[in-house]
Amino acid sequence: MKSRIFLSFPHLGGNEMKWIEEAFKGSWVVPLGPNVNEFEHLLGNYLGNPYVVALSAGTAALHLGLVALGVEAGDEVICQSFTFAASANPITYQGATPVFVDSEPDTWNMCPVALENAIIDRKKVTGKYPKAIIPVHLYGMPAKMDEILAVANKYNIPVLEDAAEALGSTYKGTMCGTLGKYGALSFNGNKIITTSGGGALICPDEEADKRIKFLATQARENMPYYYHNVIGYNYRLSNVSAGIGCGQMQVLEQHVARRREIHNLYTQLLQDIEGVTVMQNPSNDFDSNFWLTTITFDDSWNTTPEEIRQALEAENIETRWLWRPMHMQPVFANAPYYGGDCARNLFEHGLCLPSGSSLTDDDIHRVADAIKDFFNKKK
Ligand SMILES: *Cc1c(COP(=O)(O)O)cnc(C)c1O
Repeated sequence: MKSRIFLSFPHLGGNEMKWIEEAFKGSWVVPLGPNVNEFEHLLGNYLGNPYVVALSAGTAALHLGLVALGVEAGDEVICQSFTFAASANPITYQGATPVFVDSEPDTWNMCPVALENAIIDRKKVTGKYPKAIIPVHLYGMPAKMDEILAVANKYNIPVLEDAAEALGSTYKGTMCGTLGKYGALSFNGNKIITTSGGGALICPDEEADKRIKFLATQARENMPYYYHNVIGYNYRLSNVSAGIGCGQMQVLEQHVARRREIHNLYTQLLQDIEGVTVMQNPSNDFDSNFWLTTITFDDSWNTTPEEIRQALEAENIETRWLWRPMHMQPVFANAPYYGGDCARNLFEHGLCLPSGSSLTDDDIHRVADAIKDFFNKKK
């Protein structure tokens, strides 16, 4: 059996243990500590925004973003439908209702036209505007942020970016996650960098940064005894995990460069299969980190993502369906949806390819050959 090629395997830089050992030496085996401060500092430098709070997960970052924006029970929050459930779940943690919006074909992300339709209609139906907007930079591809922010600003609704998959991606030269009012990152094992589990919230200013740190550590007021005015959370990143993050920051740029290289190689190798497209940056304004390289196939092939997935699985290659849109999930069956069939069509005609930064060119050739074989046999 050929060795397994994984979709997005954790890729260590080699120096992570140095920070972990320091944590143990100083008995900093606790939430908070010097590694957390250092990790936040390194992230802030990289992003060009010093107000970054390290948290236990990307999901926690999205949740605290919504709390900071004042989302409460009875509110509605607009969310991209074509995404992972973690983009939408925190809306329900607040007792609010998600309103799902379709994607547009250039970036696969939130359609600005469907977004405005949703805002106008929700005002008609409920008498009030949605409280926040969550666009996602899916697979690392930046959403059409100028258009989305123009609509958001017109109705004075804040934007919380889900940049969990987009660390290192830029839109018009600016880092994803720093374009909206708040931005959420994830350092789960399969993301661009890993802390073995973790996330961060990018905040607009020092006051917001302090507020998030306060909420993430049980909302303890500055008193000699524990005193609480508001509900808090235990959402800080552990000092041990942050040590892994510090080590990963040394190789972040290399990891992003390698993901882009892998995408380029797939683009070259798969260019001659008619009716199969490797997803590309729609223009120079968009610079995806290509967290995952994705393909779509035309209807004329008369196949399904599952058929291709199984053919590659037989070669011991892991691929994955594109995200099943949230408006097609039983758990969100009652949530309002605005748009057409863009997200559904992508789901039914696409596949994620192995894209981890530790993959070799030979691995990518093996995947591309398996895909070519599949379509040759299908002819
Ligand atoms: C991974 C991911 C999240 C959640 O991040 P965790 O760190 O796993 O909680 C949120 N949104 C998207 C789009 C993701 O891919």
